[in-house]
Amino acid sequence: MNQKDLWQTVLAELELQISKPNFVTWLKHSQLMDIKEGTAMVGLPNNFAKEWVENKYHKIILGTLRSLDVNIKQIDYIVSFDSLVKQGRQVKKQIEGLSNAQPSFQEFKVDPETNLNPRYILNSFVVGPSNELAYAAALAVIKDVGRKYNPLFIYGGVGLGKTHLLQAIGNEIKQIYKNKIKVKYVTSEKFLSDVVAGIRNKRMEDIKEKYRLCDVLIIDDIQFIGGKEKTEEEFFHTFNTLYENNKQIVISSDRPPRSIPTLEERLRSRFEGGMIADIGYPGFEMRVAIIKTKLQEQSLTLNDDIVNLIASKIQRNIRELEGTLNRLLFEQSGRNEITIKRAEEIINQNTKIIHKNINPKRVIQMVAEFFELPEKNLIDHCRKKEIVLPRQIAMYLLREELNFSYPSIGEKLGSRDHTTVIHACNKISKNILEDRSLENKINLIKERIYS
Ligand code: ADP
Ligand code: MG
Repeated sequence: MNQKDLWQTVLAELELQISKPNFVTWLKHSQLMDIKEGTAMVGLPNNFAKEWVENKYHKIILGTLRSLDVNIKQIDYIVSFDSLVKQGRQVKKQIEGLSNAQPSFQEFKVDPETNLNPRYILNSFVVGPSNELAYAAALAVIKDVGRKYNPLFIYGGVGLGKTHLLQAIGNEIKQIYKNKIKVKYVTSEKFLSDVVAGIRNKRMEDIKEKYRLCDVLIIDDIQFIGGKEKTEEEFFHTFNTLYENNKQIVISSDRPPRSIPTLEERLRSRFEGGMIADIGYPGFEMRVAIIKTKLQEQSLTLNDDIVNLIASKIQRNIRELEGTLNRLLFEQSGRNEITIKRAEEIINQNTKIIHKNINPKRVIQMVAEFFELPEKNLIDHCRKKEIVLPRQIAMYLLREELNFSYPSIGEKLGSRDHTTVIHACNKISKNILEDRSLENKINLIKERIYS
């Protein structure tokens, strides 16, 4: 068997053992680059995939390889450009196979029937390590509506592409299945106001019917229905009716179901029964790719140095990335070419506007809110574990985001010694690199601080 066939056989075996979105995300684009002296070299499209595969799938890959070729003793995982190209091509093909929706900038009218905005399509959605799983799950839902992942629950921070991906699922389904499948997109606020109006006007039956008649119900930002009793109740029944009839439900939220504190238990467990995928923060390369895609869509160009500058300065929010890009393009449309220095000025201006209202009180308040603790707990001297970590995070954020001195941070948080603060900041800086859930928590808090 040659190496190519060998690897095909390995992948075919792995596909049976690993869930579909995981397989598509992590292994489909891998390659067997070479086998030398008992070592197989496996190429993966990026560092993230390499680490992931190495940590999660090494055992089963080695086992499968050895079952086909006993001479193989070990595997070296490497990042290979070929795999990246292969991935790009395949993803593109996959989508082209599904539909021929094209990004076009003539006119984007929201369809009153479905509430979908045709601007949001898969073709303009850049895929990278931070959203691969959510993307693969979306593809699976489009191919296999109502059967594969139900509900599909996508969560992630503000401005990271949840609405784009949800709407794209709706648009693709509409495009592919035409009128055979009825899609409806709503924000949870809209759902809420419908229910309230239904009760007030005694037309609850109409509202019920409106939602229960769709084949695909997409609800954006579900975190807002938590705690609204009547709405949750109504949503629960709608959910069950749709679910029992194999209708597809797609939901987004800014956090996973278990972290929506006001959500009723029965809804939470329904959500957890489906597929949950997160969208994280895009890395530098992906931010560059997003900027380039946006430029391409508008047939515009921008100096590479400036593209890199935007991508390195704006890290947490794709909406902000787009906003800054548009501001620069606007500036460029007046002159001929924008200088790096001028670009830097504009970027700094833009980020300053966003950051001007931040003070230590707000930081402490947002940390307390996030962990659902009274603010005074962060300041007093309790040493319980569930309070120590939030307090350390507050110290870290005061240092990182506001550049406060260690003694003044100690002062703000219950007259603590500056060495305590240094210890806390060092600890969080170190842990954030290794602990993805800590990193996510801190990013979510930052988002609240800046929103
Ligand atoms: P969210 O709903 O998570 O707050 P949005 O879906 O509204 O975020 O995304 C914010 C903006 O960023 C939108 O204009 C969207 O098109 C763009 N965007 C987000 N993710 C991507 C991506 N992966 N590729 C291209 N554009 C993206
Ligand atoms: Mg949104």
